[in-house]
Order: sequence, then structure tokens, then C-alpha cells
Amino acid sequence: MSTPLRSFIEIAPESHFPLENLPFGVFRPNDGPARIGVALGELVLDLAVLEEAGFFRGAGLGERPIFGDAALNAFLSLGRPAWRKVREILQHLLAAETATLRDDDGLRKRAFHRQSAVTMELPARIGDYTDFYSSYHHAFNVGTMFRGPENAIMPNWKWLPIAYHGRASSIVPSGREVRRPRGQTKAPDATEPAFGPSKALDFELETAFLIGPPNELGEPIPIERATDHIFGLVLMNDWSARDIQTWEYQPLGPFLAKNFCTSISPWVVTLDALQPFRRPLPAQEPEPFSYLRAPNDFVIDVKLEVQLQTERMSAPQIISRSNMRNLYWSMAQQLAHHTVGGCNLQPGDLLASGTISGPEESARGSMLELTWRGANPLQLPNGEARKWLEDGDCLTISGWAEGNGYRVGFGEVSGRIIPA
Ligand code: CA
Repeated sequence: MSTPLRSFIEIAPESHFPLENLPFGVFRPNDGPARIGVALGELVLDLAVLEEAGFFRGAGLGERPIFGDAALNAFLSLGRPAWRKVREILQHLLAAETATLRDDDGLRKRAFHRQSAVTMELPARIGDYTDFYSSYHHAFNVGTMFRGPENAIMPNWKWLPIAYHGRASSIVPSGREVRRPRGQTKAPDATEPAFGPSKALDFELETAFLIGPPNELGEPIPIERATDHIFGLVLMNDWSARDIQTWEYQPLGPFLAKNFCTSISPWVVTLDALQPFRRPLPAQEPEPFSYLRAPNDFVIDVKLEVQLQTERMSAPQIISRSNMRNLYWSMAQQLAHHTVGGCNLQPGDLLASGTISGPEESARGSMLELTWRGANPLQLPNGEARKWLEDGDCLTISGWAEGNGYRVGFGEVSGRIIPA
């Protein structure tokens, strides 16, 4: 393993944003409009300023400036050659030994902002959002609760990556408050449903990837070329109202139980930055159809952590530790399956993993599983207990890939529950 890259900007070894990472996001400084930047240590580098200064000439970004946009979509549509070129330019420009930016005080002052002084927006205009169901352990846990261990995994699950089409308009960036939804619920012993605030509000630990170049309607993306269409990844919390879900989900799947809010982390970690953390996709039994098989298919080793802090707690408590490697279906398989019937994906579409639970009880990615549908409430260090999330609770997901002396991290996605 190579040693960490060095920048002229001081970066702590535990930082999620070293020179190896350079995740893209949309930020709003307090004195100007939103535009595109990359995170470096505790700073944001303003790409609009660098673009205006001519640093990306020859990177294949096209005629019009794109980093002053308030969304990554134009950059996403360019594809990997342009993404890699920009990454190379930035890694060179930010390296300890490169004087261009390092020694230009005026430019440095204009190009860098403190992360603590800017507001992060959604990274892209997300036109469509799909949520998969690709962790075997999550599917097994939930299936066991509802149908028993023998019938936990549905007959189709190991043949295709299950998913539903979600709601893009209610995706929000980390930090946005989450209002408890109202809806219809029906207790098992009740004869009729009731209407009111959900009493079983849950989180789901997920990752999601942003689509780059589109495919034409009617032209599937072959699995060998799937990664050409994947720009990068974010953390996601698919907030879920379990009591609403139980009453509404048959026969067409989740609707209001999941469309009230979905939170994502603001920094998009590129597939290129995650390259060293790819691990071979484990063998699948039964062997999937050939349109779902690729020679070098992979999962990514990203540690995932969930923290809960109630209003009465003085510090957050870790309630789950999982890993993105716990996914059965790869991103390439999800994407190939999504398009195999001819569905067209577009720049900025978001495809989510589904809850990422591992085999251990401590690696369960939802309250549903952690408390086993409320049967074993979570005991918190201050004496409180939780079956589900309550008003005032703050839930935070963080994630990072561990390198040799550095981390390629996602930062976090956080949200606090407010009353209905
Ligand atoms: Ca989900």
C-alpha cells in the first residue's frame, strides 16, 4: 500500500477528506450562490473559482462553465474521462510540492472556504430515485419476522435485485429536520384502521449511487459497462414509518411509509476514490443470468456506523456497525437489472442499496431489526429505552473506507425527528 498523499493543506489522519478522496458536493457560501466544490480536510475548494481561473482547460468540460452550477448534473453527464481528468488536475494542484495555488495568496483566499462556514445542498437534481433490497441479512431478518425463518427469503430474491421506484422530490440533504408523518395504520387486533402520527418511525442504513451518462430508452446497459454510468456514492437514511407500511404495502409495496423524507449525505465520494477498496463479489448461488454476471464485479469495503442521540443524552451512542460489503447484489448488477427491460437512466438519478445489515446482531441497519419489531427495546446508556424513534431523537449515519494511514470517508448524514 502506498503512503498517504500529502497536500499543502494540513489534514488530520482521521479526516474523511484527504487528498485521496476529493468528494464533490454543492455548497452555498454565506456571501454568494450555490456552486460546486470538493472537500479537503476541513475546507471546501471552490471549483467555480478554479474553472474561471482556467485550471480545467483541456479537461473536456465543454464550452460553457459548469462548476458555477447549483447541481452536479452537467458534470455527471460528461462521464469518466472528464471526471478522472478533473481529479488528476486537483490532486496535482493540491499536492504539497505544487506551488501554483499554494503560493498564490489571493487565489487561495478566494478558492477555499471553511466547511463550518458554508451550507451544503443536495449534490444533484435527482430526477428519479430507486431503492433496492440487496442485503441478504436484512431480507432474512425482515422475512423471518413476518414469515418465519423457513420462508424468510422469497423465491425471487436470489434471482434478481428486488427494488421499488421511490420518490425523488422528498430527498433532502443531511441536517434537515424530519417531520413525523401522519397516516393510516391498523393495529393487528383492531377491526378498522386509525389515522394519526406514525408510532413506529424507523431509519434505514443505506448507501446510494449517482448516475452519470444516460442510456437511451430501449437500450439496456450491459453489465460490463455498468460502472461507466456510476459517478459516485453517498450515505442514505431511508426514513420509514413501519405502522403505515404494514397497513398499506400490499399488494403494490411501500408508498406513504417512505415518501415523506429521505436524507442523503452531501459529499459524493467518487467510484475512482473508492477503487482501492473494491473486493471481489462473493460467489452467488444460484448463478445469476448472464446479464447479471461480469468478470470483475465487486463490492466495496466501507465501514458504516449508526449513532442515536435522544434529547436527554449528552453524547450520541453507537447503535449499529455494518459494512457495505454486506450487500449480496453489486451496484453493477443493480444497474444492469434496472435497465435490462429498456428503462433509461439519467444523470443525477439515485439508486440506493436497501438497508445494509450484516450477520451479527450489532450490524442490523434498522430499528425494526435492532429491536426485533419492538420486542427487545434498545437500552440506552442514560436509562432510556427505544422501540422506535421518538420526537427529538437525532440519528446519524457515517461511513468510511480505511486506507493505510488515511480514510476515504463520506462524512455523515444526520436528521432530527420533529413532531407531526
Ligand atoms: Ca429502504
